[in-house]
Amino acid sequence: MDLKDKIQVYEDFPKDGISFKDINSLILNPSAFQYVIDEMAKVAKALDANLVAIPEARGYIFGTPLAYLIGAGLVPVRKPGKLPGEVSSVAYDLEYGSNIVEIQKNAIKPGDRAIVVDDLLATGGTLMATTRLIEKLGGEIAGIITLIELTELGGRDLLKDYFVHSIVTYP
Ligand code: IMP
Repeated sequence: MDLKDKIQVYEDFPKDGISFKDINSLILNPSAFQYVIDEMAKVAKALDANLVAIPEARGYIFGTPLAYLIGAGLVPVRKPGKLPGEVSSVAYDLEYGSNIVEIQKNAIKPGDRAIVVDDLLATGGTLMATTRLIEKLGGEIAGIITLIELTELGGRDLLKDYFVHSIVTYP
């Protein structure tokens, strides 16, 4: 299936110079959405994971049906201040400024194997921070799966220690 014709591209959004890949046009199409989740599941089944970690908000869209299909638990990865109880945090740099991701400490036990699922791999900062968070709590990274990879931004190099699979690539 040609997925690129289902992904609408907006130039200069959210700011000048960014070519924004909009997944909303893809998930609106039932057969394209099913195709993407099925493709992710084929890869995920071989990774022997018991957890799927999902950065908010768009990681939820793909990670939730995937976890259901492979029989894994879900670990929400959230922005600061959203999770109750004891949380673990990792800060990371963005192009301008910085960001923080958090998970609940009791979500990961030593020996857990997590697949991290997100909509898009750009610089890899978000996914790298997520892997560090899981490893800090004693979990292992079984792999990383994204719908879209922007290859020229070098995220795959940053994540070179991990298995990374994307369904659609753009330069
Ligand atoms: P990274 O941390 O630089 O890899 O950025 C990845 C995050 O930025 C993902 O969680 C995406 O949701 C978001 N993002 C960056 N560029 C785009 C885009 O073109 N379309 C949709 N989301 C984007």
